[in-house]
Amino acid sequence: MRAVRRFTVRPSLPEPLAGLRALATNLRWTWHPPTRDLFASIDAKLFNEIRDPLRLLTALPPARLEELALDDEFLAAARAATENLEHYLTEPRWYQRRSREGEGTLPAAVAYFSMEFGVTEALPNYSGGLGVLAADHLKAASDLGVPMIGVGLLYRAGYFRQALSLDGWQVEHYPVIDPIGLPLELVTGADGTPMHVAVAMPGGRELLAQVWKARVGRIPLLLLDTDTDVNDDDLRGVTDRLYGGDADHRIRQQILAGIGGMRAVRQYCALTGHPQPEVFHTNEGHAGFLGLERAGEVMRAGRLAFDQALSAVRAGTVFTSHTPVSAGIDRFPVDLVQRYFGDGRLVPDVDLRNVLALGAEENPGMFNMAHMGLRLAQRSNGVSALHGRVSRRMFARLWPGFDEREVPISSVTNGVHGPTWVARELSALLGGSHEEWGYDGDSDNWSGIRDRVSDEQLWALRRDLRQKLVMEVRRRVRAAWLQRGASALELGWTEHVFDPDVLTVGFARRVPTYKRLTLMLRDPERLRALLLDEERPVQVVVAGKSHPADEGGKALIQQIVRFVDDARVRHRIVFLPDYDMAMARYLYRGCDVWLNNPTRPLEACGTSGMKSALNGGLNLSIRDGWWDECYDGSNGWAIPTADGVLDPLRRDDLEAAALYDLLELQIVPLFYDRGPGGTPEGWLSRVWHTLETLGPRLQASRMVREYVETGYRPAVEKVHGAIADGYRGARSLAEYRTKVEIAWPRLTIFDTDLQVEAPDVLVVGTEVRVTARIDLAGLEPSEVDVQAVVGKVGDTDDLAEAVTVSMEPAGIGAFEAKLRLPYAGSLGYTVRVLPRHDLLATPAELGRVIHA
Ligand SMILES: *Cc1c(COP(=O)(O)O)cnc(C)c1O
Repeated sequence: MRAVRRFTVRPSLPEPLAGLRALATNLRWTWHPPTRDLFASIDAKLFNEIRDPLRLLTALPPARLEELALDDEFLAAARAATENLEHYLTEPRWYQRRSREGEGTLPAAVAYFSMEFGVTEALPNYSGGLGVLAADHLKAASDLGVPMIGVGLLYRAGYFRQALSLDGWQVEHYPVIDPIGLPLELVTGADGTPMHVAVAMPGGRELLAQVWKARVGRIPLLLLDTDTDVNDDDLRGVTDRLYGGDADHRIRQQILAGIGGMRAVRQYCALTGHPQPEVFHTNEGHAGFLGLERAGEVMRAGRLAFDQALSAVRAGTVFTSHTPVSAGIDRFPVDLVQRYFGDGRLVPDVDLRNVLALGAEENPGMFNMAHMGLRLAQRSNGVSALHGRVSRRMFARLWPGFDEREVPISSVTNGVHGPTWVARELSALLGGSHEEWGYDGDSDNWSGIRDRVSDEQLWALRRDLRQKLVMEVRRRVRAAWLQRGASALELGWTEHVFDPDVLTVGFARRVPTYKRLTLMLRDPERLRALLLDEERPVQVVVAGKSHPADEGGKALIQQIVRFVDDARVRHRIVFLPDYDMAMARYLYRGCDVWLNNPTRPLEACGTSGMKSALNGGLNLSIRDGWWDECYDGSNGWAIPTADGVLDPLRRDDLEAAALYDLLELQIVPLFYDRGPGGTPEGWLSRVWHTLETLGPRLQASRMVREYVETGYRPAVEKVHGAIADGYRGARSLAEYRTKVEIAWPRLTIFDTDLQVEAPDVLVVGTEVRVTARIDLAGLEPSEVDVQAVVGKVGDTDDLAEAVTVSMEPAGIGAFEAKLRLPYAGSLGYTVRVLPRHDLLATPAELGRVIHA
């Protein structure tokens, strides 16, 4: 019989066990081993299978619950866990200590928007790195006490589950979730009815969403869900899948996430007394429409024009881009945007003209979400130092006249949440407190850890983690073959796949072309020789999902699968279908080497290698993303890149050859070079070095602290500056912008000069005087920053490594500055004029500059 409808019934807990519900529904259990232990103590086998306390409680027979309700020892442990959680949720943490220290204000709350959140496999609401990063951001914010609200969508069919056909082709499944069975609660109003947010759709329709709340430690994560009776079938489907559907589907999701998400935050705070956020962080551009909703709010609250409101909105927005290629940016046809915003119902008060201007790009027919993100955020950043540089180049056109390095896009290198990703065995071995590890504090010095533990202990631990990976690999290989149609009888060999003493290399990631899943297959004979070496073999575990619409990606997967299916190598190389967080844990912990070979510089950051490093894995990676800034010569290996070789096949050949060389000549020998105690000393010294130096840098807590200090704190200062005294600052900045726009075309620099006191000898450090006469075209000297610029000149007169010094007014229309010559060799100078206003974050912000 088939059910016509499914529904979930929650267990009814006997009174003494009522506290378990809070422990099971707060996702802190995902990074708090003692809470997991408590649930595992109820039924270890069942818990290990389902690894979700809430589903465990549902699955337990009522008799077992009755039994537990009478078990004093269990009740005491449960009480202790509940108190520990309560303490965690309420005690002052780093953020509260930081606010007390003064030094400017910190925001009352920050809202963090993302299209996906990968908190745990028990809540399958993510596709890959972006979602896991977003969840790690919330978890670290929780540990640090940052008052944050997460905002996203709840997808009824999440991303997809991957299986393989017999011939190695990716097959997708979309299991539908039932939120009732998940660690979520429906947000309800004072009268107990579900809270709804509404956004207007074309043709007079309305899209309604209910809102689920997940508790991520201290952080509420609000997830909007359109699958409710109040919508017709078409609109119910808006939150059906992550990254599925056409442009129309995507824009509806993004409108809901941005505009609906803002409304959900406002209502939620009004309802619960949670402080209203003052700073809004968009993780990638998808939720960027939230800025329009906020502009509408400010316009109504302050009776402001759009331009005036924009100053206040920009001040409070932080935009993080994750895409180093133009093709990766979300863009919509302008007429589609027009269809949704044209009738003025979606964001009342904001003109279509203003909306379209925010997303304008080179192609007048397209609306660019990244451009809107940059125009709506006073602070923007990339996710590694290299990605910051690439982004400044990529978006330099939006700031004409500025050098790339002055483009106001900074970088905050991603981090990963240590308590989630580090094997508890390793944390236990190293000991130490959360404060010491910087999870709840500023600590960034791990240099003492090597003294606590011997090489033998560390090596035993690494073997233990490798062994656990081997068991998981065998289990999954067998399950995958059964699923592909093999019979159990012919699968005896799967029990001998992998070996806990063999050097283990991992490669797991989504499969867009640039990540080059199949680079390792470039010379199949060389790979086979590495795998099958009699004395010093290598084993390789590969995993990854291809976007369902990407046939090219699926073909790459098939290529790998065909290679690993070969009976000669299948015990040394495997492809595991359905890469997700549950599998990822085993891989990051158990692999000795984490391989990463994207086409540089297309990997914005990459985070899987960080998770490996925190577990004592060594990275073998192209110098891209985070590895470009973190590789130091002894914490892993850098695969040399054939930058500049334009033929991609030839580039692949060169880089693959370098990869094999590194494995053959350095990595394999180092791993198998054992000292008298049986430990590989050279290898372990690299592992120690990795843990000591990268341990603190790769933490999500370091990343979140950086966002607080360089993003949220300065943002809220500008917000207060903009809104104080009835939005006086916002009005003044808008007025100033208009004034600049009028004056700028007529502003002229003439008569610049550079004079030296003692003209015969120019040496580094000689003081010079730069003067200029300038017609400010009606602007006051205090309203501009006049700068003398000195730099190196080469064949062209372009100034390199320029040093700038602000010039002071020296009489009517005259400016001067004294400065010391910074370099030897051929130098040049110029003078330029930039806008200046207290509420600008950088002089480049308005994209206006006049050169002599
Ligand atoms: C960390 C993580 C990723 C991101 O990996 P990249 O190195 O950025 O490709 C993807 N999927 C899962 C499940 C992860 O945990």
